[in-house]
Amino acid sequence: MCAKIAVIGAGFAGMSAATALASQGHDVTIYEKHDQAGGRARIFKEKGFTFDMGPSWYWMPDVFEEYFNRFGDDINAHLNLVRLAPSYRVFFEKDHVDVPADFEELCAWFESKEKGAAQKLREFMSESGEKYQIGMSKFVHKPSHSIMEFAEWQTLKDATRLHLFTPFSKYIRKYFSDPQLLQLLEFPILFLGAKPEKTPALYSLMNYADLKLGTWYPMGGMHEIVVAMQKLAERKGVHFEFNACVKTFGFDNENITSLLTDKGKFECEFVVGAADYHHMDQTLLPEKFRSYTKAYWESRTMSPSSLLFYLGVEGKVDNLLHHNLFFDEPFGPHADDIYDTPKWPEKPLFYVCCPSKTDNSVAPENCENIFLLMPVAPGISEKPETREHYFNIMMDRLEARTGEKIRDRIVFKRSYAHKEFIQDYSAFKGNAYGLANTLKQTAFLKPKMKSKKVNNLFFAGQLTTPGPGVPPSLISGQVAADEVNKLAHKAVTSHTTY
Ligand SMILES: Cc1cc2nc3c(=O)[nH]c(=O)nc-3n(C[C@H](O)[C@H](O)[C@H](O)COP(=O)(O)OP(=O)(O)OC[C@H]3O[C@@H](n4cnc5c(N)ncnc54)[C@H](O)[C@@H]3O)c2cc1C
Repeated sequence: MCAKIAVIGAGFAGMSAATALASQGHDVTIYEKHDQAGGRARIFKEKGFTFDMGPSWYWMPDVFEEYFNRFGDDINAHLNLVRLAPSYRVFFEKDHVDVPADFEELCAWFESKEKGAAQKLREFMSESGEKYQIGMSKFVHKPSHSIMEFAEWQTLKDATRLHLFTPFSKYIRKYFSDPQLLQLLEFPILFLGAKPEKTPALYSLMNYADLKLGTWYPMGGMHEIVVAMQKLAERKGVHFEFNACVKTFGFDNENITSLLTDKGKFECEFVVGAADYHHMDQTLLPEKFRSYTKAYWESRTMSPSSLLFYLGVEGKVDNLLHHNLFFDEPFGPHADDIYDTPKWPEKPLFYVCCPSKTDNSVAPENCENIFLLMPVAPGISEKPETREHYFNIMMDRLEARTGEKIRDRIVFKRSYAHKEFIQDYSAFKGNAYGLANTLKQTAFLKPKMKSKKVNNLFFAGQLTTPGPGVPPSLISGQVAADEVNKLAHKAVTSHTTY
């Protein structure tokens, strides 16, 4: 039983789907628009600096470990992982905290902010840990074709413990009231998805991932994960076709029979679409084969886009850690500007990554590799002066808080925002991280993994289940692959062609 399978996109989801399918015996080719794998986690090199273009937080190490284990490999044979300690720095309005990697030290800091908060943190973490275990073992690996997958009694009982219907913001306020503690706990939600009022308390599992499982870093940069995954995929027999942008498909009734790319036509029996779902649904497929309407997509809550700056800086910047969050302005107004009345923010929060603090290989000697990220509403336009305006806002605050002149030492600078997300990934409204994790967009309420109109087409990646982020994308690819594999078996045993 060997089917000819085409995967669109060599991001985490595409590579994970392709590797799973190849290891199940199929003949798999990935068609990728760019000249390298990684998707949003590509790299570029300039003037001796190596910039990771997207993800920089290595969270949920268990998901990466399980991924390599699934194919008989040990992740440590591929990646030199270090746990960052402290995990990251948060600049508040007047002071800052270096978030300790050690949980007891973290409890002590919580207690220093609010009497009784250490014990409450232990209780909160125990609940979040339970959510993480239930979520990872019972929910995220389901294809979520239908609500019935969640209908067995134990799963329903588990669902009530997940606090699916309690807003995250309300849930954490049952435990804590100090503004700094609340900001620290709300940050993973705000940066990756939606407002804490709109996010189910289930996602406090992200706090467990952050504060218990820790922040890790693969030496060489996040792209090393991509390199390792590509090597593993090739070893399993996956063929990569780079610079092959898929334009449309050839059909036989409701089945795709070929991909038309700018490198030519390629035949296939199954397709896993692991590029942005909206792009494949609304652009690559003819109207009669689309699963969703334009109005459906317009009504989705997308995760934020981002304004990014990649900076090469001569000399060192002392008062920064590897990860630095600038929470020196209140969350509320910036969140409103992203989600409620989408516009460029007045007083943005932002994030500064400086991987050269951990890793000499990403910058020339005595230099810093700096990446600025400011979350912005998707779907808004910019003026010619917009980027520089925000660059100056971020640099003013960065220089003030580090007490160092940085601007005059910049030897390389590149910006990236909506326009580039659209050009590079055909990202709907220039989104950076797919769909927001709101209650109405969780599990079987997300765009479906299996096409509603085309028999042999499946979707994977950050716009379908389980959601945005590198670990969910890795899982998404594997779940989609297992669904394709089942169908391929069925086709052989019932002698059907797809
Ligand atoms: C700035 C930024 C920071 C982030 N930070 C983090 C973080 O710290 N931690 C974390 O876990 N996650 C983070 N994320 C999210 C994470 O990067 C994504 O969720 C994940 O990489 C998505 O993987 P994917 O495979 O679904 O999609 P993608 O990475 O977008 O891959 C899709 C691939 O499809 C290709 N493609 C598109 N159209 C076509 C076509 N027509 N034909 C052929 N190929 C096509 C694209 O070129 C791309 O390679 C971040 C994302 C961004 C943008």
